[in-house]
Amino acid sequence: MQKRAISNIDLSNHDEQERQKANALRFERRRARLIFGFALLVFIGLTAKSVVSLEDEGYVVAVMFANLLFILFSIFKCKCPNCGALPTGHAISAGQEISYSKGVNPFPKKCSVCGFYLSRRFLTKEIRKVAKGK
Ligand SMILES: [Zn+2]
Repeated sequence: MQKRAISNIDLSNHDEQERQKANALRFERRRARLIFGFALLVFIGLTAKSVVSLEDEGYVVAVMFANLLFILFSIFKCKCPNCGALPTGHAISAGQEISYSKGVNPFPKKCSVCGFYLSRRFLTKEIRKVAKGK
C-alpha cells in the first residue's frame, strides 16, 4: 500500500470508504489478537501457580515481568496497517474528543502519520457526517 496524505482521504468516495474500513478492521483484529494473547498469558501465569503451588515470590515476579514484556512488545506491534506508524496520543487529536495528550494510544481513531482510520466506529461516524453534509 502506498502512503497517502491525510487530505487525500475522501470519505464521500465509496472505494475510499471500503479502503478505510479494511484498514480499521486490520488494525482492530491485530489489537484483538494481542489482548487475547495477554489474557491468555495472565491465565497461564495464574493457573501454573496454583498447579505447582509455588509459594515463592520469585515466581510471581517472573510472571509479572513476563506480562510487562508482553505488554511492551504488544504496544510496538499495534502499528498502523497502512504506514506502520505507532499510534500515539496525537492520533486522536483530530476531532473534538481529545482524551489523551501524549504517549502511545492503544485505541486510536486515526493514524497520526497517514490519517488512515483505525477505528471502525469512528469511521462510520465520519462517513455519516460526510453523507449528511452532501
Ligand atoms: Zn498510518
